[in-house]
Amino acid sequence: MRHRPSRECVTEVEPPRLSVLRLGHRRERDKRITSHLGLTARAFGADEVILAGEEDPSALETWNSVAERFGGEFECRFEAKPMSWLRRFSKSGTIVHLTMYGEPWNEAIAGIPTDSPTVVVVGGTKVPGELFRMADHNVAVGNQPHSEVAALAVFLESWLGPVDDSSRFTGGQIEVVPSERGKRVLNREED
Ligand code: SAM
Repeated sequence: MRHRPSRECVTEVEPPRLSVLRLGHRRERDKRITSHLGLTARAFGADEVILAGEEDPSALETWNSVAERFGGEFECRFEAKPMSWLRRFSKSGTIVHLTMYGEPWNEAIAGIPTDSPTVVVVGGTKVPGELFRMADHNVAVGNQPHSEVAALAVFLESWLGPVDDSSRFTGGQIEVVPSERGKRVLNREED
């Protein structure tokens, strides 16, 4: 398995940017799942989540609030023209589209470079057919319909390696101390 360069190492080369694009968000119907998608993107190694579909300030507020409280560099924004953005992105980066119709993820990941900017695209409503042609990799996490959150987590963990690198999440107000029982946190706000 290939790994993105660890952010723990002292290196002058920044890892290439990893974005997650949430297409076709429906403000009422997808509120919770889109929120969880962005949090999963952050926890599993993405640098930003891009929201497309219906505008929804509450999703951006949730992601910003979690990043502020729990640390790390994570950005989020709304994109009004996601397909135009993807067309431009495709000239210099890799587009991975998660879809149950794609190639098996455990076979596809070996061919997905980790040294170029990448966007992982997940749908909400039906995605435009053009995306299947534009994507460098159409990747399935099993060929059964399930959840974009599950697909994203399995894909990122398999492609980038384990998520338990807490050094990525510095500078927050709260740090969770892993514990066998109960909830232990360090509250940096009180320092
Ligand atoms: N209703 C939509 C449609 O008809 O195309 C699909 C909804 S599905 C819950 C939402 C997203 O989850 C899909 O666009 C895809 O990105 C992701 N997804 C669902 N099942 C998947 C699978 N088996 N492998 C990869 N991605 C999957």
